[in-house]
Amino acid sequence: HLSVATRQAEERPRVSFEFFPPKNETMDERLWECVRRLEPMQPDFVSVTYGAGGSTRERTHDTVARIASETSLIPAAHLTCVSATKEDVLQTAEDYWEAGVRHIVALRGDSPDGMGAEWKQAPGGFQNVIELIESLRAHRPDLGKVFEVSVACYPEPHPDTRGWEFDLAHLKAKQDAGADRAITQFFFEPDIYFEFLDRARNAGITMPIVPGIMLQPNFNGLKRIAGLCGASVPDWLHKLYEGLDDDADTRDLITANIAAELCHKLADGGVTQFHFYTLNRANLALSTCHLLGLKPATAEAA
Ligand code: FAD
Repeated sequence: HLSVATRQAEERPRVSFEFFPPKNETMDERLWECVRRLEPMQPDFVSVTYGAGGSTRERTHDTVARIASETSLIPAAHLTCVSATKEDVLQTAEDYWEAGVRHIVALRGDSPDGMGAEWKQAPGGFQNVIELIESLRAHRPDLGKVFEVSVACYPEPHPDTRGWEFDLAHLKAKQDAGADRAITQFFFEPDIYFEFLDRARNAGITMPIVPGIMLQPNFNGLKRIAGLCGASVPDWLHKLYEGLDDDADTRDLITANIAAELCHKLADGGVTQFHFYTLNRANLALSTCHLLGLKPATAEAA
């Protein structure tokens, strides 16, 4: 490994954070504590997820609007094609714009019948994410309303995959439709990312492919999500969390260390941007950033 100090001198890693919109007051407090504690890390942007089936439309909007108006952070709002007409989806985008949001994470989303069920286009809705990206790009450029667009990508095949050839052509089509960057599904082995990066570059995908780093200390929850979205959970990870079901503190420490080690290995291979799935937990994202050598802006100035 390059030492952290050497790497820092070369380039400050760039980070972004994903949050989810809170469901109740307690979760709201936790989210805002997380936002405030991560703000000094000066992320490129922070993104807010859009619940399955569009279930968090208002809450996602309210969260990004508050981030835009009350913090120095640049919000990105997730938006899916699920269970809504094209007009509804574009109205949500327009509402984001009015709230000061200029960056959208455009997704097809999962079937309303749940993750793993076959994708169904909503009546009057977008057929796929390419159509959504094209519509976002065409959204009132006459008024200078041009969104930055990020999209998802899958270094390990998505459950809906019909093979690499289709997947890579599909990702290239997202780029051609106007996507600015792709953010990966989470993964735990650096080679999974690097092999995917090679495949993507060979397929003509030139946009940044930012690794999504999972900070989920609940290992049983992690295994469930990984099973649903096609991410592999290596044996060594099972061993690390073994016997810790009732020890949340130790799981937190392990989670931050695993994430930091993965980032270090990715950085050794030239990666300079990381997107963290924070689960609205400030301590894990903060300690991972510190382990990466990233300091809050005030500490750096001092
Ligand atoms: P796509 O990239 O369009 O498709 C997913 C996969 O299916 C690709 O591998 C693609 O090649 C393949 N595929 C698509 N269409 C076809 C076809 N016609 N034939 C064959 N193969 C096909 N979900 C939410 O509900 N809310 C969120 O906020 C959210 N945020 C996310 C953020 C990130 C960074 C990531 C990685 C995922 C997120 N998801 C979210 C999950 C996402 O909605 C699901 O993974 C969904 O199933 C796919 O959406 P997508 O935009 O990636 O789809």
